[in-house]
Amino acid sequence: MLYQRSSALFDEAYKYIPGGVNSPVRAFKSVGGVPIFMKSAKGAYMTDVDDNQYIEYINSWGPAILGHTHPEVLEAIKKQAKKGFSYGTPTELETEIAKYIVENVPNIDQIRMVSSGTEACMSAIRLARGFTGRNKFIKFEGCYHGHSDSFLIKAGSGMATFGNPSSPGVTPGTAKDTLLAKYNDIEEVEDLFRHNQGEIAAIIVEPVAGNMGCVLPENNFLQKLRTLCDENGALLIFDEVMTGFRLAFGGAQELYKVKADIVTFGKVIGGGLPVGAFAARNEIMDHLAPKGAVYQAGTLSGNPLAMRAGLTTLQLIKSDENFYQKLNKSTETLDFEIGKILNQKSIPHRINRKGSMMSIFFHVNAVSNFDEAANANHALFNNFFHQLLEKGIYLPPSGYESWFISAAITEKEIDKTLEVVRKFEYS
Ligand code: PMP
Repeated sequence: MLYQRSSALFDEAYKYIPGGVNSPVRAFKSVGGVPIFMKSAKGAYMTDVDDNQYIEYINSWGPAILGHTHPEVLEAIKKQAKKGFSYGTPTELETEIAKYIVENVPNIDQIRMVSSGTEACMSAIRLARGFTGRNKFIKFEGCYHGHSDSFLIKAGSGMATFGNPSSPGVTPGTAKDTLLAKYNDIEEVEDLFRHNQGEIAAIIVEPVAGNMGCVLPENNFLQKLRTLCDENGALLIFDEVMTGFRLAFGGAQELYKVKADIVTFGKVIGGGLPVGAFAARNEIMDHLAPKGAVYQAGTLSGNPLAMRAGLTTLQLIKSDENFYQKLNKSTETLDFEIGKILNQKSIPHRINRKGSMMSIFFHVNAVSNFDEAANANHALFNNFFHQLLEKGIYLPPSGYESWFISAAITEKEIDKTLEVVRKFEYS
């Protein structure tokens, strides 16, 4: 494949945009090579500026669960756009989507819309602190909850890709209130509660982690976190930015039957437009301004174009009662068939999968926390990524990211993907 125009555009972008990109992992720094500039996307495919076409396994890092540019979502956005892009006033549509989500997601009474997952998680922590009157919180190594200061300590996603334990600019004062534990290690969480009695406001967790690659909760980990929070008067925050409306309509809470106190959303909830949200029961949400004292605001929060794209996406998912079954089946087929091919080639690997999230670790051992994910053969992943990319398969450009399968993927795309994986040369 030729990437002439992408290459030229990257050189130009590099002059005016830090590192040439508006979000670090897009720069292909860990996998190497020129980041590919896209010009359009439809269904299961993206087309780049050199007219190469790719089968999509990122889907805008999760939002495009229906595939790209779904015609009904497009129509809904167009219709709203004619009536105005943003008013900065309340709209009926905001109540419509709030009611719809509250009625369909377990354990929440009210929801506040924001414009990104970062804002959602940052606000959830502030709310938990305001509610409990405590300062500290627990997060897990390799989990990513956006780029707000207090989360950038042993975070996943781009932080893992670039190997930064923490970011310059995060003050020691901020960092000291973020307590760290290993994912799936309940004893470490117990120790933290023991040594910080009465000081921990919340635990925030990706109920299925997607930012150290896909890592699943094991041995009733989520249930045990619930119990520890109850015993210690702390809130349990499920960061469902990736998992919300993806693993089930009610997200990981529904799938694992574990009740969270605060839930954060992003990605699918905006149908590809910039949306995040956080939600909880009345008792907690009542603390939020303007009713309560915990401040939080946003010029474009509840933006009508974004709300319409989000609501239409959610309604389309809900209207197909076999939606998740089909989505998960495609993902399962990819997992099993890719696994078979890699076994035939005697390539040590582990595929972690939940619903329509999955990732491949080139590793002999199981991967259930960040250290194990980091011990995988990332050089081999990079090689795998490039060989697939060359043949029109677009995977996330890092071994620390989850793949997101969309409903637009059919047998045809899966067959083509497997054909390409069969040609993978391992040296
Ligand atoms: N939480 C999780 C679990 C995420 O995966 C992400 C983004 N990948 C975020 C929060 C932050 O969301 P955003 O990039 O929209 O700020």
